[in-house]
Formats: sequence, C-alpha cells, structure tokens
Amino acid sequence: MKAELIAVGTEILTGQIVNTNSQFLSEKMAELGIDVYFQTAVGDNQERLLQVIDLASKRSNLVILCGGLGPTEDDLTKQTLAAYLQRPLVVDKQAHQKLDDFFAQRPKHHRTPNNERQAQLIKGAIPLQNDTGLAVGGFLELDQVTYVVLPGPPSELKPMVNHHLIPLLSEDQSRLYSKVLRFFGIGESQLVTVLADLIEGQTDPTLAPYAKIGEVTLRLSTKASSEVQAQRRLADLERRILARKSLDGLPLSDFLYGYGEDNSLAAETFRLLKKKDKTITAAESLTAGLFQAKLAEFSGASEVFKGGFVTYSIEEKANMLKLSLPDLKEHGVVSAYTAEQMALGAKRQVGADLSVALTGVAGPSMLEGQPAGTVFIAVASQDDVVVNKFLIGGKSRNEVRYIATLHAFNMVRNALLSEDSLI
Ligand code: ATP
Repeated sequence: MKAELIAVGTEILTGQIVNTNSQFLSEKMAELGIDVYFQTAVGDNQERLLQVIDLASKRSNLVILCGGLGPTEDDLTKQTLAAYLQRPLVVDKQAHQKLDDFFAQRPKHHRTPNNERQAQLIKGAIPLQNDTGLAVGGFLELDQVTYVVLPGPPSELKPMVNHHLIPLLSEDQSRLYSKVLRFFGIGESQLVTVLADLIEGQTDPTLAPYAKIGEVTLRLSTKASSEVQAQRRLADLERRILARKSLDGLPLSDFLYGYGEDNSLAAETFRLLKKKDKTITAAESLTAGLFQAKLAEFSGASEVFKGGFVTYSIEEKANMLKLSLPDLKEHGVVSAYTAEQMALGAKRQVGADLSVALTGVAGPSMLEGQPAGTVFIAVASQDDVVVNKFLIGGKSRNEVRYIATLHAFNMVRNALLSEDSLI
C-alpha cells in the first residue's frame, strides 16, 4: 500500500508550527508496514488543496489529510475533499450529540452555525470519533483509494489515530495488487469501447484506463490475501482483455507492448536491442535528435547506439548521409523515398545493424503541400527496409515530434521481433 500524508494549514507553510503530525503518522504507518511515499504541506486554500488531493489520489492508495476540520471559515479540508469526490457532507449523529452535550455544559459558549461543520462527514465515510475534541474524522474507501481525514491538534489526532484509525487499517489484511498493461497504436476511446462491459461491470479485479500522449495504459487491480491469488486473478483478467478485438478486428494483444508503471516503448526497444546484441543509428529531420536523445537516457546506451545524424535541411540530408541531392529534391523531403534513403545512408555511414529515419511536417504550417503531422519513418535492418506513413493529426508541433518518435521506436521494436518469427 502506498500512503501519502497531506498536512493542511497555512501556519505550517509560514513556519509558525512544525509539522509533527506527519512525523507521528509516518512512524505509525511504518509500524503497520505501510509505505509512505509522499508528505505534503498545503495552506488553507481550496484550489491548492484540490490540486494536492488530485495528485495524491492518482499516485497513492492511502491518502491521509490532517488539519482544517475546525469550525472556522479557513477550515476547509472536509468540504474540499467532498467537492473533489463529488459527495455530499452529512451530519454524524454521534459527533452532533457531542456538540449538543458540549454546549449544554457550557452555557457561556456561543454555538454558531459553523460549529455544525465539526459534526460533518463525507457521505459513505466511516466516522473516526474524536475522544479529546469536537471535530469528527473520516475514513472512506473509493475507487481503490482510501481517504482519511484527521483533526490538526496533535492532542486530538494522536488518540484518533491510535484508537480508531489503526484498528481499521490493520483490520484490512488484504493488500492491493496491480498490474499495468501498456498499449501503443490504439486510442483510449477505442480501447474503452471494446472493453466497455468489463469496465462497467467491474468489482474485483478493477480496470482503469489512463491516456498518455501517444499511448494508453490499463491498470488492473485486485485486493487479495496473497501474491499468488492476486497474480492468478490479474492474469485471468489480462487474458480476457487481450482476447478482445479492436474495432478493426485486430486482437488487442497486437497493441500491447509491455508492462509496468515505469516502462516505455523506448525502454522496451532498448532492452530488445541489448538482448539481441544489435547496434542502431538514426537520421532525424523533424524530430531533430529526439529519438537519439531518448536512447541516450538508458544506461549502457553506448553499447547499442554508436552515433547518428540530425539532418534538418535537404542539403544536409544529402551532404551528411552521402545521398543524391537532385534525387531528394525530386521526391521531396516529406516522402517515403527520402525516409528510405536517409535510413540506408545513415546505416552505411555508421555501419550499424539497424537504422531509423524520420522525416515529415511537424507543423503548424504545411510543407510541400502535405498537412502538418504527415510523417514518414523508415527502418532499415539486415536486408530489408520498411517505410511507413503516419498522419498524426490535430496535435501541437511538439506532440507530433514526440509521437513520431514513439512510432519510430515501435517500428524498430517490430523489426527486432519479426526477426524472431523468421527463425
Ligand atoms: P481546530 O478545531 O483547532 O481548528 P483543525 O482540525 O481545524 O482544528 P487546524 O486549524 O489546521 O486544525 O490546526 C489547529 C492547531 O493544530 C494548529 O494551530 C496547530 O497547533 C496544530 N496543528 C495543526 N496541524 C499540525 C501539524 N501538521 N503538526 C503539528 N501540529 C499541528
């Protein structure tokens, strides 16, 4: 379980108080075997608190907020979380009774409408009673994320954690296991369409699609009491997903390129190049070195990447890659011919096993009568050259360049994999 602590209060940011609550909570989580990956402090500001909650809920399964449960206007933690989760606030009977008793015993204290906020709870949450104060805490599980709301004063937070939160957290012995499937070449909307019944009817395991630039990931999650049980359930759902067909009738397995949160097409391709002991070079026009820069991110890059070319102008394509300028001019920069010649030229110059070339129109204006987003990519391998044309429409200049790079990695990956199928 990945936990994240959010301490709410401007006093923390201005240095008026030390965030001892986070230290206390981190210690308690460590005792429970729960990993705390992030601690954040945020002021009493709804907009910034929303940003922090949004980020936390995407990267953690346990989000603990403390502070801002009081009766004053700047205490807005519950209200903000309720707005984020689109759930109403309801009154917790026991906490409300406590308020009644408190004011009944103290006739000189004025009860204001704001005091009622202390008895509020997000609908569906389990109340965490406050043994030493008035503001009720809350525990809510929603879409695989557990949200906990605690009061700010340590004298209230500590008993609430020790007597009410820890029993709840340790009661839940089952752990959440996830598997991330990564797809390229199919859009999120299409993937969601062909998996609609699996997504809508989900209970456990659950299925969550997430669109990134140029690719889509699917997170499969299950709560299980053992790793073996979890892996069995996740593998079963994965089989059902991959057996589905795209709207063009292709099996979804054709679009799956890898697994894992921190994976990428570039990383998968790099691993394959290393595994097969192949070297690669590149000649890049519209991407101006993006492909090569990506390769260089991986440690050990020099074993597979000896060097390459950024050939932006047509003259430099001919000059650096030793190609015929009149022939390039005749076919144009945005053409299958130029992509192919660039790949072959680079391969000859460097003597690599594989070579990739990218040429096209990054946009926003047209080039040679071709619309922005028209890209030709060639991959030259042992004794074969494959050239593909892509239309990466409706994207910004830098998105076109980035997506073109992804296509290039995908083509190299396919070339490497098809070598296997030929053997
Ligand atoms: P109250 O009902 O007192 O308003 P609250 O839940 O709204 O409680 P805050 O107003 O955020 O909590 O903080 C009240 C007090 O609790 C602070 O003035 C400070 O003394 C203490 N406190 C708040 N947050 C922390 C923290 N993260 N670490 C240590 N002390 C804290």
